Amino acid sequence: MKHSEFRYQNGFWLIAVLFAFQLGCGSQTPQQQARDVLNEAADAMGGLEALDSIQNISREGQSQRSSLGQGHVTTERLLVGRLSPFKQWIDFTVPRELGLSGSREIPTVADWEKGGYRDVFGMALRPLEPHQMEGYKTEWDRDIARFLVHALGDEATLQGISEAQLEGRLQDVVSVEYPGGTVYQVYVDRETRLITRLDFTEDRNPFGDLKRERSFSDYRDVGNVKLPFKETTQDMGEITQVREWSSISINGELPEEKLQIPEGLKELSQEIGHADTIEVLPSELADGVYFGESMHMNNMWVEFEDFIVVVEGPGNEMQTLEVIRHIRETVGDKPIRYLLTTHHHADHTGGIRGYVAEGATVVTHANNEEVIREILTRPHTLKPDSLALSGREPQIEVVGDTHTITDGTMTIELLHVPNPHASGYLAIYLPKERLLFESDMFQVQGDRWQVVLDDTPRLPEEAKALYEVVTKAGWRPLQIVPGHGILLPWKLLADTVKASESD
Ligand SMILES: [Zn+2]
Repeated sequence: MKHSEFRYQNGFWLIAVLFAFQLGCGSQTPQQQARDVLNEAADAMGGLEALDSIQNISREGQSQRSSLGQGHVTTERLLVGRLSPFKQWIDFTVPRELGLSGSREIPTVADWEKGGYRDVFGMALRPLEPHQMEGYKTEWDRDIARFLVHALGDEATLQGISEAQLEGRLQDVVSVEYPGGTVYQVYVDRETRLITRLDFTEDRNPFGDLKRERSFSDYRDVGNVKLPFKETTQDMGEITQVREWSSISINGELPEEKLQIPEGLKELSQEIGHADTIEVLPSELADGVYFGESMHMNNMWVEFEDFIVVVEGPGNEMQTLEVIRHIRETVGDKPIRYLLTTHHHADHTGGIRGYVAEGATVVTHANNEEVIREILTRPHTLKPDSLALSGREPQIEVVGDTHTITDGTMTIELLHVPNPHASGYLAIYLPKERLLFESDMFQVQGDRWQVVLDDTPRLPEEAKALYEVVTKAGWRPLQIVPGHGILLPWKLLADTVKASESD
């Protein structure tokens, strides 16, 4: 026997013996152990077969949602919502969902095939946007009633297993990569074998990689399965959603009528739900001044001699890319030097990263510096956007009470407006053109991407604050260019304020 053959044969026997040893001892790979733990979790919930037979679910109870990045002051991340009645029906077969919120049962419908809509405070019916539809799809896929069916399915990858303590109780923690790429840490209680928590990180505009955790408790029998009656979700360590169900049922009759998209919205919902761009309709308000009207979120761009100023970066990167395309068509290739923000809220800053990727400096009130810097510098590894890919160092310029940008021909003025809606708020004015840009202070619904139910102007405290500060500063606007809704005459705000004073 030659030397090399001897080594080969020895190697073979070593592997064979190890394999036999492993079989004999019942020791498993981490993936096998992970599968066992998830199978046990499925058994604790009634068995994988019973879970897989859940075609629809209806839940009724209380829900509290708080919005990340929408706090009134920048020191608070959340606009805290109230715990209020909530009902939901999810049909996993389409998939589609009906939600009824509050005691007035305000509807939201999401239908993967037909698109969706939501009722905005009884003022308008709006189609769900592509990112909202995607959000629903993600939630249907990870609904706790169906979670294990996907986690143990062929398209998921079990990555491994570890253990942890949760409130003094030992947990097996299975790491599973779901179809679509999200990795979940699944906490399974060592004694009850029920899922207690899911940890995961996913992309959320404008925060990028967002660390989330969802806890489950109060498991009760629902037909032949066991489901949690309480779910609590935390984002970046803040509680953003609490759901406490009083009743859950599966595979019942669905409220077909309420699951339909209303007649006047069908085409829009279908069109918008899975669109790969957000329509922007530019109109020239004055020489070199453009209103970028879009789906419920607008902005404005202004041409200077050597550069362009963009007022507000709302929505998301999809909208920003479309606005930039229109900027290039309307005013050409001058650099976008400044991106001005009215306030820090996520819906109005969701698109700013795309302008910074183009080289724009963000101009904001000093109060917002930290929040804006966070938006511009947080990691975006899961879904790298244009700023993440550009590798640019974001630039921020802060403003106190007033600020002016001028090249002698074109002038923009900024003015701090203290108000209850958002701290560090700036009104933005073009004195020559007599145009005032504002967001969230005073608005009237009316854009073409929705069905308007009520277009009476409302006068919240912030609208009065805007009127007073602008008037006191000696600004004399003719037109309001709004971040939401349609262009309005300044006179409408003035008249509405006067009418409220004479009441
Ligand atoms: Zn706001």
